[in-house]
This record gives sequence, structure tokens and C-alpha cells, in this order.
Amino acid sequence: MHTLTVKTTSQFEMIDITRQISEVLQKETIRDGICHIFVAHTTAAVTINENADPDVPKDMIAILDRIVPLQAGYRHGEGNAAAHAKASLLGASETVFIADGRLVLGTWQGIFFCEFDGPRTRKVFVTTIVAS
Ligand code: ZN
Repeated sequence: MHTLTVKTTSQFEMIDITRQISEVLQKETIRDGICHIFVAHTTAAVTINENADPDVPKDMIAILDRIVPLQAGYRHGEGNAAAHAKASLLGASETVFIADGRLVLGTWQGIFFCEFDGPRTRKVFVTTIVAS
């Protein structure tokens, strides 16, 4: 298993980590298989979406803010209930196929680390499974 460190710089942020994950694959001899990406945090997530237009992640953050307002009478004493809810909406993991040693992603797809309670230093775990 590989561990990526992601340093976020603001409260809400989507960071394209596709390149870092591709670099993990280059350290392995895997040709065909599966890459699993897991975020071990309760106020962060990982998602796959467009990485061509930088306005897409900005819009997604704004959309999530409308779905889950920052303050809405939540009970959680730590004060970051909205971050927990956003993390669960997007999820803690993604699975991407590997073919010829490369991630199989659509032309416009990238893998984003999603920060909802930053800035923090975060960990992303990456494992690969060889296809038989
Ligand atoms: Zn909390």
C-alpha cells in the first residue's frame, strides 16, 4: 500500500491528485488490474470528475454548500457536521481500472481529493490489485 500526503490550503478544496496516483503506478510493475484509492478521514472525500475546466470543482463546492449548509442547527459539538455530511455524500473511496500500466480514465476525468474541513494535512491510501 502507498500513502500520499495531501496538504490542503483552505476550508473547502478539490485537489487533482491524478498525477500523484499515476506516479504510484509507475513504482509498481502492474500492467493490468485495479487501483483502489481510500481517504482515511471523516471530513474529506475522493471523487472523479472533470479536471479540464477549473470552474467545475469550484461549482461542485458551491453546489455541495447549497445541499449541505455550513450551519443548520446541527448537533455535532465539534462544529463541522456539514463537513462530515459532504464527506459521506461523495464517499471515502474510488476504484479505477489499470490497463497497460495506466489508469483508465475518460478524457476529461481526474481524481480529486475533496477537503471539507481544512486546511489540514491529509493521507490518501492507494493499493493496486493485479488482474489475473
Ligand atoms: Zn466532527
